[in-house]
Amino acid sequence: MSCASESIEPARRKSVFLPLVVLLLTSACGSDEASNPGGDQPFAFGAADEASLMTTVRSLTARGMNGRRTGTDGAQQAATLIVAALGNCPGVEPVTGQSFRIEASSDSLPAAWSTPVVNIAARWPGSGELADEVILVSAHYDHLGPTADGTSYYPGAVDNAGGVAALLSLACSVPTGSGGDAPRRSIVFTFFDAEEAGLIGSKAWVGDPPFPLDAISTQLNLDGYGAPLFEHMGDGLVFGPDLSADLAEEISSVNESHGAYRMMPVGHEVLEGRSDQAPFQQVGIVAVHLATGIPPGVYHTPADTADGLDPAVLSAATDWTGMLALRMALRVTRPALIDPPRAPYATVETYDAIIGNLENYPEDLLGPTPTPEDQEALASALFVARAILDSWLDKVPETDEEWESFTETMAVVAAPFAALLL
Ligand SMILES: [Zn+2]
Repeated sequence: MSCASESIEPARRKSVFLPLVVLLLTSACGSDEASNPGGDQPFAFGAADEASLMTTVRSLTARGMNGRRTGTDGAQQAATLIVAALGNCPGVEPVTGQSFRIEASSDSLPAAWSTPVVNIAARWPGSGELADEVILVSAHYDHLGPTADGTSYYPGAVDNAGGVAALLSLACSVPTGSGGDAPRRSIVFTFFDAEEAGLIGSKAWVGDPPFPLDAISTQLNLDGYGAPLFEHMGDGLVFGPDLSADLAEEISSVNESHGAYRMMPVGHEVLEGRSDQAPFQQVGIVAVHLATGIPPGVYHTPADTADGLDPAVLSAATDWTGMLALRMALRVTRPALIDPPRAPYATVETYDAIIGNLENYPEDLLGPTPTPEDQEALASALFVARAILDSWLDKVPETDEEWESFTETMAVVAAPFAALLL
């Protein structure tokens, strides 16, 4: 995931414009179609346990795993940990053969690539005539390995030990029972290798799939998972509901039913496909990226440690993810793909137009001599404001009236984040 941020105009005016924002949020929350029967869930994952989640994170980020770079002993240790945990999970089975390990075939890897790539997958089988359809819930387990000088290593806690911990927790808390005690579709929990090397593991899966790709009705990919977006803000981001109104509707329902945690919808282009959902999106599969947030300054640094995660956020996001996975598994119909993505989600070009109009604004907020910390905090705040606007901005402002309205909305959206951080 990228922490790149760009300047967007932050707050000047606040509560007087709140009704406008409320209106925008309300109107952006999906269609008026009848809710899917998947809403009456006869199943539920067990609540994610904070202590067990963090035990997994601490194991994966320990010095002995040395950053889990693909092909190293540390990555093999991580794979062994995951496979051993799955072996103790009731209710899940290997996707193919007897092993949870799926070694990528050489012809599914880049020509110059010589390192073994080991994806890991476990299936909770569905029941009935849709049991061959799959909800793929994924997280990459590899990371960057040791630092160049060998004196330290990249623990990769939020990127992506937290996602792995969430996935293992879900895989090991599927409801067990007899007969038809399973959702319609199967849920396949997949741990990708070699994400950091360029999505090599997920591309190999798509290039040589262990089961037909058209069986996958939805993919939920976890990356950047376990830390709050900001210190005082618990909600996360889901990148990609612009690709499916059906999925966007289910996300909205989970936000309502979870209550304590939400994933804010953001266009799939915002992170430019920098995680393992991208290869699946490219072949037309409805796929989204779930991220809770990455603390400022830790992305791809040795500072991405387990201490940067918030166990309550990790637990709540895991429960939220499980709820969405179940809703997708229980739907009567597959979520339809929208091509091209629907209008309310702005494009990268839209941002550039907006940012070009507002680029001087941060100086007003930060004053003439901002500290680097202030600038970083503001950049993070504006990144999220931008992400929110991506979902809720109807179109690029053109007239003076539209620009005024946009600026007022922007002020309200950005204000809480900037105020919290500065
Ligand atoms: Zn990364």
